[in-house]
Amino acid sequence: PAPRDWSSYRADFPQLARQVHGKPLIYFDNANTAQKPQSVIDAVERYYTQFNANVARAVHTLGEEATAAYEASRDTLARFINAGSRNEVVFTSGTTQAINLVAYSFALPRLSAGDEIVVTQMEHHANIVPWQLMCQRTGAVLKVAPITPSGELMVDRFLEMLTPRVKLAAVAHVSNVIGTVNPIAELARACRSRGVPLLVDGSQACPHMPVDVQALGCDFYALTGHKLFGPTGTGALWARREWLEEMPPFFGGGEMIRTVSFEGTVFADPPHKFEAGTPNIAGFIGLGAAIDYINAIGIERIAAHEAELLAYATAAFKQVPGLRLFGEAPKKAAVLSFLIEGVHAHDLATLLDHEGVAVRSGHHCAHPLMQFFGVPATARASLSFYNTREEVDRFIVALEKVRRLLA
Ligand code: PMP
Repeated sequence: PAPRDWSSYRADFPQLARQVHGKPLIYFDNANTAQKPQSVIDAVERYYTQFNANVARAVHTLGEEATAAYEASRDTLARFINAGSRNEVVFTSGTTQAINLVAYSFALPRLSAGDEIVVTQMEHHANIVPWQLMCQRTGAVLKVAPITPSGELMVDRFLEMLTPRVKLAAVAHVSNVIGTVNPIAELARACRSRGVPLLVDGSQACPHMPVDVQALGCDFYALTGHKLFGPTGTGALWARREWLEEMPPFFGGGEMIRTVSFEGTVFADPPHKFEAGTPNIAGFIGLGAAIDYINAIGIERIAAHEAELLAYATAAFKQVPGLRLFGEAPKKAAVLSFLIEGVHAHDLATLLDHEGVAVRSGHHCAHPLMQFFGVPATARASLSFYNTREEVDRFIVALEKVRRLLA
């Protein structure tokens, strides 16, 4: 079929039709969480109304239907990120749990005093705090690769830091604050050649660009479902099979074992070894539907469309007097962090809300990046494929109004 017109996708997202303070909603907070298409909502409802049962334990029809739908989502996600095998996809509650799984099961047993973990200045707290916790326990040291004023990773400096003391590197694929796309394939090649496992925080990449974990060449890839148009409480860790075989389980309980006796327990094979207890079945069924929805549009088309939208929005933002834009990397996702001279980010976001515009304001769970830019907070407009140039235009009008009120 011929590709649908971009504006037609909006009708698939019920919440995009609502009003806020009597104005049509302009949802520019997609990096925080994305809206859900009706097909995702329907998939969750279908599970609860037609085959609600637990997975991987009952032989009755409902149990088998639930298990089949849940495991089908693993296949869908594995294909979406081009995993070598479905068994390399561990379902988690989100990126945060995925990174903590690697911290506790992979990093902790390998770390000793004086070892190092390398992150970058632009990481989300979810890709900083777990490593700090591991360092506190082991005496390892967290090293921070610097970035340029335009928000690009200093790749040479990163590579210099990969000494034999480094036991892991952890880097965002895309920054949630400034949109920078990091050169993961290049970093992964360098890490491999030095024997340093590389974890990639892909939270902000997979809703916006094709992700091929094999082509990237990293060791771990963490993602979160709610930014991918799926339900909250879903996410995944992709990891190379050899690492998953080697890693001990993080949580113990039902579903993750083969046999249990008081003399000893034999664990299930990955990925189930890492999925103790009843999972978010409805959520993952919804996530599968979300990926089907994205696939029907085409993630390459989404990337190209968002690049045009970003160029349009960037040019428009730059026309606003007194506006400071944070992060202007040449390779960038559609995230615009900004401030207006003399105006606090929260005041901006509050008054924009009165105009029907949803943007996030604050530190965006990236205190170190705020410190780098020397500001306590920014306002952030993060776009998705369902946003339009008309919304950007209306946003600029609203921003001008707010600026005149506050500046
Ligand atoms: N990393 C990045 C870059 C993010 O943007 C986010 C979500 N804001 C996370 C990690 C954490 O994801 P979650 O809260 O879904 O676990």
